[in-house]
Amino acid sequence: MSPDARKTILSGMRPTGPLHLGHIAGALRNWIKLQDVYRCYYSIASWHALSSEYMNSKAIKGNEFEVAVDWLSVGLDPEKCVIFRQSEVKEHAELHLILSMVVPLPWLERVPTFKEMQQEIQDKDLNTYGFLGYPVLQASDIIMYKADAVPVGEDQAAHIELTREIVRRFNRTFGEIFPEPQTLLTEVPRLAGTDGRKMSKSFGNAIYIKDSPETIREKLLPMKTDTRRMRRTDPGEPNDCPVFTLHRAFVPKAKQDEIARGCRTAGIGCRECKAVVIDALIETLAPYRERRARFEREPKLVWDILEDGNAKARAAARKTMDEVRAALGF
Ligand code: SF4
Repeated sequence: MSPDARKTILSGMRPTGPLHLGHIAGALRNWIKLQDVYRCYYSIASWHALSSEYMNSKAIKGNEFEVAVDWLSVGLDPEKCVIFRQSEVKEHAELHLILSMVVPLPWLERVPTFKEMQQEIQDKDLNTYGFLGYPVLQASDIIMYKADAVPVGEDQAAHIELTREIVRRFNRTFGEIFPEPQTLLTEVPRLAGTDGRKMSKSFGNAIYIKDSPETIREKLLPMKTDTRRMRRTDPGEPNDCPVFTLHRAFVPKAKQDEIARGCRTAGIGCRECKAVVIDALIETLAPYRERRARFEREPKLVWDILEDGNAKARAAARKTMDEVRAALGF
């Protein structure tokens, strides 16, 4: 396929800390596949992080580095995709501002994540103009590269739908510049964290991509299992076991089935079952650790890759903004 025939993908993550197993299973595995098929832009969404972390803005740059290292370690390949920092492509700010002129306020007030996050997150100030505009900034990320599709989980679907509405309104007002991006819905498996709740950095229950084999073992061994298995001889139900959510995502299917049978018949114990998933996790993460070591030794390598990505993104963004300004008559 000639490079120009490829469709364009854009996706992003907020740099709020190191990435965990949920990011691998719910996004990165898919992103790695996509980079062989599409022209992919992957954005480290600095300003999106700022919208909820502005009182802690000095942590963002370090988190951007962490995210970049995680991405590169798991196999996003700067030869195949563009990895960049949103805040280094100032054109996003301009497009965000222009879009904000035409986006009706009620569209933003009814985005489900807006009220949900305001209610759920009590320790942060989300009562700002910037936070309300979060999906407009996201729309500017996506349409800047004229993305045909956006791989995201269900939780982001409303934002992509809103992006399509914004595109239609923009195109009607100023002229047909932007394609309507499709949602490439990614199945996000429910992964339990070490306390049995959904794995999440904010719960402090995550297993990180950069965790060492010892840390993985220490985190997994005390994890709660199906409460029916009080004794080794009690049969259990994998579907009710937080540990088994990790098997589903990281253990080969045939082995999963064997273990599920063993659990239901009390043929295997939880200790043995955990050993299987611990080994699988260590094996999955081992090649990532190897690559990470080099990036941590030579951080400049990472910043250079980002600088190169920023430049590529900027070139595409400049082209788009020339068209946008002309369409506005500026
Ligand atoms: Fe969970 Fe495995 Fe124990 Fe079954 S055997 S309850 S799946 S840890």
